[in-house]
Amino acid sequence: MFHVKHSSPHILLVNPWITDFAAYNFWMKPLGLLNIAGLLREKGFGITLIDCLDFSINKKKYGDGKFLKTKIEKPDSLKSVPRNYSQYGIPEEMLLKRFSILEENPDIIGITSGMTYWYPGLFKVIEITKKFFRNVPIILGGIYATLCYEHAKNHSGVDIVFNGRDELEILKLIRRLTGFELAPNSELRANNLQYPAFDLYPQLDYICISASKGCPFACTYCASPFLSKGFSTRDPLRVVDEIDYWTKKHGVNNIAFYDDALLVEPSRHFIPIMQEVVRRGIHCNFHTPNALHIREVNEEIAVLMFQCGFKTIRLGFETSNEATQIETGGKVDNHEFRQAIKNLRRAGYSGEEIGVYLMVGLPGQRVGEAEEGIAFVKGTSANPMLVEYSPIPHTPLFEKAKKMSQFDLENEPLYHNNSILPCQWDGFTMADYRRLKEGLRRD
Ligand code: SF4
Repeated sequence: MFHVKHSSPHILLVNPWITDFAAYNFWMKPLGLLNIAGLLREKGFGITLIDCLDFSINKKKYGDGKFLKTKIEKPDSLKSVPRNYSQYGIPEEMLLKRFSILEENPDIIGITSGMTYWYPGLFKVIEITKKFFRNVPIILGGIYATLCYEHAKNHSGVDIVFNGRDELEILKLIRRLTGFELAPNSELRANNLQYPAFDLYPQLDYICISASKGCPFACTYCASPFLSKGFSTRDPLRVVDEIDYWTKKHGVNNIAFYDDALLVEPSRHFIPIMQEVVRRGIHCNFHTPNALHIREVNEEIAVLMFQCGFKTIRLGFETSNEATQIETGGKVDNHEFRQAIKNLRRAGYSGEEIGVYLMVGLPGQRVGEAEEGIAFVKGTSANPMLVEYSPIPHTPLFEKAKKMSQFDLENEPLYHNNSILPCQWDGFTMADYRRLKEGLRRD
């Protein structure tokens, strides 16, 4: 728990547990919540942040690592899945202890949410929070609240479900609820504390950053177009100021880009950012867990990425099947993919370092398509990584998924869980998937 002394309204912000069959900390931080924390603090609010996921074990050299996990009962809808189900993050007693040592009760509690099928962990946090702080209004926002608004309204038990995409709207809502005038705090602004409030963590192994919002593409399986209307980029110099601030003032040396479209329009965005990183002599490791647009990885960008310390490269290829590529949005073709791998190899990356996401279990996809994809990626020397398809409400493919799935995707978000392969069928069974996974593990 991380507390800022204050005399103005006190806002408690909580990032809940993950509940799932598996979870790994690939540089996860609740960036939206931290943006709100930074904005509220800059406007004079007192902020306490409790991140239930801030408990990684066996950390690796770049700051990623395993979450602490506690095995829990499976929800009824998932009882037939033959795998352990766990709650990931801090132990429950630690959450209660953090509540109990607060200097004063919060005036408002804001809770964020992640994947739609993680809602059991979220609901448990809400239940505990409501018992502890009776009569304090709770606002629920985040991805689940936005994608499954009706479900959240009907089942979460919070006072307000916020399904807006704009963080400034949250400020207005909190202002309305507290009646507190939003006066900018010039001292905080001068010290750059309007940045996402990462400094509220006692220890920072990494931070994440967004240099842009949204994506100009519209892949049929992806929620980005729904979650962030339109595509916009930040001023490259302001992005580098932020990188500079965290690396030099806080000693952070691992930064994950959370952008959906980091490389789009590179000559006016990514290239100036990286050139400025070089000019200022910033040294840190960059990671791209959200995948990069392959089409944009030309020679210049590949070289800049290598020079600037991009250590974790993930490319969003999804399939080598040309018909599926076109049908799902046409963000890349096989020729562009081969070229990108050549450019990255020439720049200095080994094939093993170039992780390529391949989506498996798409509605109606045959296992043969996934096998071809794996062989195609291996043929370029890059490293294929399977990503199981998760049906996401408000995406075009969700309608097809609902028709093809044996699960009630419409009414039960637990069935969006990619681990259960929601669109498995005779042409692509769970056994097929395990065989593919095992084959990659042995390589
Ligand atoms: S999958 Fe990538 S390219 Fe496609 S819409 Fe989503 S973020 Fe954009």
